[in-house]
Amino acid sequence: MSFVTVSDAPSGEVDPTARTHDVVIIGSGPAGLTAAVYAARANLEPLLVEGVVDGGPTGGQLTLTTDVENYPGFPDGITGPELIQNMRDQAARFGTTFVTEDVTSTDLTANPIQLQTASGKTILTRSLIIATGAKPRRLEIPGEDELWGGGVSACATCDGFFFRDRHVVVVGGGDTAMEEATFLTKFASKVTVVHRRDQLRASAIMQERAFKNDQIEFVFDATVTEIHGEQGLVSGVTLQDTKTGETRELATDGVFLAIGHIPNTWLFEGQLERDEEGYLIVDEPSTATDLPGVFACGDVIDHVYRQAVTAAGTGSKAAIDAERWLAGGGGQVASEPQTTPATADL
Ligand code: NDP
Repeated sequence: MSFVTVSDAPSGEVDPTARTHDVVIIGSGPAGLTAAVYAARANLEPLLVEGVVDGGPTGGQLTLTTDVENYPGFPDGITGPELIQNMRDQAARFGTTFVTEDVTSTDLTANPIQLQTASGKTILTRSLIIATGAKPRRLEIPGEDELWGGGVSACATCDGFFFRDRHVVVVGGGDTAMEEATFLTKFASKVTVVHRRDQLRASAIMQERAFKNDQIEFVFDATVTEIHGEQGLVSGVTLQDTKTGETRELATDGVFLAIGHIPNTWLFEGQLERDEEGYLIVDEPSTATDLPGVFACGDVIDHVYRQAVTAAGTGSKAAIDAERWLAGGGGQVASEPQTTPATADL
């Protein structure tokens, strides 16, 4: 088994086109990296393609958060980037090779499966694990990027704890907005939900729960048009009335976006079964998609939980599923002799 560390295998020194891989993983968040750890320990020498532009940052959404206090095993917490680096080091230690560039197109029905990268490389693989995640929809307004992690967040479960006795704004009118607003009242003294219409999209029960909570107030027919900060921390927002166009300032310590997620599945459009929101559909409880040898895990299949630990959990399942599929004879290329993949060491 080769031991390749991150620093031993920088992008550019690896030729991912040199052979047909047993397993290629697309995505470098907790799902992809956990799949890599498991696949590497099964002697499958996985290649992990970590994107750089489309679909969010290398390392996934966790690299955009500060402290992670709900990932088991870290009693004192750990930062998102550190947690991802640890997972990456662990995957590298067992023989994962990394390629740092975007996949730009895929042919999932080819045998072997073909992936094209942004620099024009063609990567061939017998099995594929898709862990491309989902990105929170952004408002795309001034202050949003600059203050991301400094009070702007898309995950109340991750960051709510830091707003004890503070005032926070939740943007959105769907179930996530109601759930996040209700959850945030455990910590924040006041939560203001800002919704662009005068009717919520959320289900009746979620609305009712939020309406009953006297720590939550609603501002209807309004959008947030700018987020303001002081010394890198959110200090307020500009609200614009969607009917009159009038603007006003609202002081707040945090802004939680709950305006939906966009699964990173455009690469597989027309090739894999997706639900109406674009999430990949797998044959639960397995991670098998509707194409043989193609597995999916993490947020790209999950619009409900979206936690690092749940993503890691499905990542391990995807690697086990891929290993078993290969061991069962899946992915044999017609012109090559039958080989028996190494026994799993899971
Ligand atoms: P939704 O798409 O249901 O809601 C998004 C909300 O954000 C809508 O109110 C929408 O406004 C608003 N919005 C979208 N874009 C913008 C924008 N640019 N500016 C301002 N507002 C915007 O997403 P959710 O994440 O809430 O829910 C996704 C799915 O997950 C749903 O099926 C939901 O039922 C489910 N879910 C279920 C939960 C549960 O049952 N416990 C918990 C969380 C989610 P508008 O209404 O005007 O379109």
